[in-house]
Amino acid sequence: MNDRNKSTELETVPCEVCLKEIPRTEAQTSEVDDYVLHFCGIDCYDKWQKENADKE
Ligand SMILES: [Zn+2]
Repeated sequence: MNDRNKSTELETVPCEVCLKEIPRTEAQTSEVDDYVLHFCGIDCYDKWQKENADKE
């Protein structure tokens, strides 16, 4: 096979909480309005949820 798609497969995104770069395919995601947030794991996701829980 060819490796043309390698760059997109290895695309990373910063975690919304700790800013660590993580592969997009492994990120936890949360949609807020039309914006998608990325998290390195459930710990950061929980932390973000708690910090934003009282915004509504
Ligand atoms: Zn994180």
